[in-house]
Amino acid sequence: GCGSDSDGVFHTEGNKLRMGTNATFPPYESVDENNNVVGIDADIAQTIADKLGMKLEIINMEFDALIPALNAGQLDFAMAGMTASPERAEQVDFTTSYATGIQAIIVPEGSEIAAIEDLADKKVGVQTGTTGDLYCTDDLGEDHVQRFESGVVATQALLNGQIDAVVIDNEPAKAYVAANEGLKILDTHYAVEDYAAAIAKGNTELHDKINGVLEELKAAGTIDEIIAKYIHE
Ligand code: GLN
Repeated sequence: GCGSDSDGVFHTEGNKLRMGTNATFPPYESVDENNNVVGIDADIAQTIADKLGMKLEIINMEFDALIPALNAGQLDFAMAGMTASPERAEQVDFTTSYATGIQAIIVPEGSEIAAIEDLADKKVGVQTGTTGDLYCTDDLGEDHVQRFESGVVATQALLNGQIDAVVIDNEPAKAYVAANEGLKILDTHYAVEDYAAAIAKGNTELHDKINGVLEELKAAGTIDEIIAKYIHE
């Protein structure tokens, strides 16, 4: 079990590197018109695979299925704009961080919500199992949180008036707001976080390989170049 063979050694399948993601999170990952997963994480993962001389396979799944899939040996690594949180670090190993995420708050234009404190008696939509879910559940209580399978679906519920706000990472938040009339992102934010790739605990060989390539790509400015392709400040 736990993704290792009986000898306790992890084996990647042939020359294949299986990367898990949840492609509802632009510009880190989304599905294009040809059904390919594209975005910052897909580009970084492809660059890692190229450097390691391996063939990348991207597996698209629910966000909260990624860590269980890693631990079941169904994935070699996950890149999903995933926050390297201390809670998750008990279940998986994280690489060096390659990007920053900010938990942003989306509200309808004209909403009376202007600050985090204003969320107290409101209904807030989140993506299941994300850090936004965790913070809102901790701070506001279960009764004030509604979980959705993706930020896209949460945003739809906000447009329909089912919820009062959505708490989600700032880059997908910008994409959802740009794609829909009548929404805005508050100037304030919930938290600043580090994104990292996740690997099953014990798979130190692959962890060291991917971490090494990421450090190399960061030092060479390649990560910044990939991010700049998608995020124009
Ligand atoms: N950064 C957030 C988290 O790790 C959201 C990630 C996501 O929805 N893909 O929980």
